[in-house]
Amino acid sequence: MATRQKSLKQPNMSNKIYLSSPHMGGTEQQYVNEAFDTNWIAPLGPNVTGFEEALESYLGNEKHIAALSSGTAALHLALVLLEVGSGDEVICQSMTFAASANPIVYQGATPVFVDSEPNTWNMCPEQLERAIIDRLKLGKRPKAVIAVHLYGMPFQVERIQQLCKAYDIPLIEDAAEALGSTYQGVPCGTFGDLAILSFNGNKIITTSGGGALVCPSEAHKKRTIFLATQARDQAPHYQHSSLGYNYRLSNISAGIGRGQMEVLDAHVALRQQMNSFYKMQFSGWNGVAVFTEPDEKFVSNHWLSCITIDASITGFSAERLRHAFSEENIEARPLWKPMHLQPFYKEALFYGNRVSESLFDSGLCLPSGSNLTDEDRNRIAAVIDQFR
Ligand SMILES: *Cc1c(COP(=O)(O)O)cnc(C)c1O
Repeated sequence: MATRQKSLKQPNMSNKIYLSSPHMGGTEQQYVNEAFDTNWIAPLGPNVTGFEEALESYLGNEKHIAALSSGTAALHLALVLLEVGSGDEVICQSMTFAASANPIVYQGATPVFVDSEPNTWNMCPEQLERAIIDRLKLGKRPKAVIAVHLYGMPFQVERIQQLCKAYDIPLIEDAAEALGSTYQGVPCGTFGDLAILSFNGNKIITTSGGGALVCPSEAHKKRTIFLATQARDQAPHYQHSSLGYNYRLSNISAGIGRGQMEVLDAHVALRQQMNSFYKMQFSGWNGVAVFTEPDEKFVSNHWLSCITIDASITGFSAERLRHAFSEENIEARPLWKPMHLQPFYKEALFYGNRVSESLFDSGLCLPSGSNLTDEDRNRIAAVIDQFR
């Protein structure tokens, strides 16, 4: 086993404080070096297998995990496995990153967007049921539901699962932001018929770029890897009876992932501490709400800490606070802009009210990385103090 050393230098990012930047634990480079030493410079090898095993043992629940080149690729293959195709409809949470929805369009299918509910900011069960009933009435049976654990906050797992079960629609769980979060003590990434993870540079752990599909069986995992490696039939020549993709994770990237798995729990704890820091900063502040778990069933990894600001009470908007941070070289960002408000999806169907829209209008994501220092926190607090 590699010893832990702080051998990796953090990249030079001057004095900018980022929302979420890569945070190496120390052993990542050794796994990468092993890949070089053994010439496993390919989209397969011991690091890919080792990373998958580490993820499988972390999530438990008899899941089988295929490491892929991105979370987006994982979502795409989830839709392929569920045989989503041209003319099909897929229900998707509106308030999310575009990567949750885009693979629906890659498959020639049509997204139907559903609003959030105010407690978890995730898919509203009532609006989901409304959408399902309405689509069924029109003879359009949704092929899948994509629900997201936004910013690491678990969605209403029981209610969403119940609805998908009652109407017999597969649930795809987008856990790209939620590795390390739990609902009733069970890890996010294990609730869907299929689930996806992301290891992009800004996520809770990173492989520089990467993702995974969490599968219910070894057969699903094998099929995923088959599709992700160009769908080659067993033959000495190149023969294909299915459409393939080049979506497998590189053995170099997977080496970074193996090292990151060793520090995942520690980094989740640090993100949760950042959330407590913001709760303290804004405690007793009328009109500012720090986004928190609705009750003890929900445990968020607090990938990003977010606030909402009621400007009619505070006298200042989220946008003004964002500018004040920006002047101090501190990154803050509006919440995900809902898909039904995106120009690309302007024709898409939407079931909901104005919940996600008003969250978007009043919300702000704050620096949340596990690598922030006391000095960083002091700089952040100084900006917040300007508004007291
Ligand atoms: C990051 C992200 C994805 C996509 O993951 P990539 O690895 O960047 O392709 C999908 N859904 C959500 C909610 C994300 O935040």
